[in-house]
Amino acid sequence: MTTPIISVEGVSKRFAKEPDLAAKLAGLVGAGPKREVVHALDTVDLAIRPGEVMGLVGESGSGKSTLGRIIAGIWQQSGGKVYYEGRDRTTLAGTDRRAAALAVQMVFQDPMSSLNPRMRIEDIVSEAPVYHGIVDKAGAADYLADLMRKVGLDPAYAKRYPHQFSGGQRARIGIARALAVRPKLIVADESVAALDVSIQAQVLNLFMQLRADFGLTYLFISHDLGVVRHVADRVAILYLGRIVELAPAEELFAAPNHPYTQALLAEVPRVDTGKRRFKPIEGEIPSPLVPPPGCHFHPRCPMASARCRTEVPAFKEIAPGRFSACHLNG
Ligand code: SF4
Repeated sequence: MTTPIISVEGVSKRFAKEPDLAAKLAGLVGAGPKREVVHALDTVDLAIRPGEVMGLVGESGSGKSTLGRIIAGIWQQSGGKVYYEGRDRTTLAGTDRRAAALAVQMVFQDPMSSLNPRMRIEDIVSEAPVYHGIVDKAGAADYLADLMRKVGLDPAYAKRYPHQFSGGQRARIGIARALAVRPKLIVADESVAALDVSIQAQVLNLFMQLRADFGLTYLFISHDLGVVRHVADRVAILYLGRIVELAPAEELFAAPNHPYTQALLAEVPRVDTGKRRFKPIEGEIPSPLVPPPGCHFHPRCPMASARCRTEVPAFKEIAPGRFSACHLNG
């Protein structure tokens, strides 16, 4: 079996939440404040194989962006291990460490806030490859022009600033910046969510074209099942910090196993437009400050039993390549 580019094993992430004003005032009269802990990720296992597109789906607050940032090396996990090509990332040093860091790049949701408004595109895209010696200063202009063409931008715009571009063009600049250091894996975090539907399709097509051109691997994070269905080879479903189902995309969409995935995929028929519309799931996602005991999904699950309220379901293989964490699987 090929070594995954990235694998995470038992990865958890907790954040200390600063007390708000009311809690601080309560502290002044001796009733607090208490530091609260957000349980963003809870013992997550995931392996991303070379060349695949792994979709990561979850509602807001599920921990998907946290997992993306840990995989991209932007945040450190609180517990568990992250392996780069089979080697514990914390044990890497020198050129190995640098290679591992450059190999995983992130493309963010909102290019406007992730692109420095005072920098020209030529500097935004060329800075890292020149700094890391991927290209020398003399070759930087040609390198930049080539990258701009590859992402569908006119190299004549290299001296412009981010605000002089449309949303779709800024998304392309964010992709060019990530590509500039020759990554193996791109973590695309809601990278098309802020775009109009027609522009979304163009940027998704660009991602897939670049996959073919550069042999890229993607972790494609989205709350939008339609987007993930369009691009992913395998899909992981995250609920309140735990992966509840992992399966090849076609199988997951054809026959979801976990009640949460089933609820996510339940459609409301629309005879008027013929378009797909997903049914909202009953109830709110619980607070990650106090996740429910047992199966995190039990307060919203129509199939929940007494066991679900106390016992965490094991994440186990239910068919070759298919995993699910539900007591209904025995
Ligand atoms: Fe529902 Fe229980 Fe399965 Fe959780 S373990 S998804 S509560 S049936």
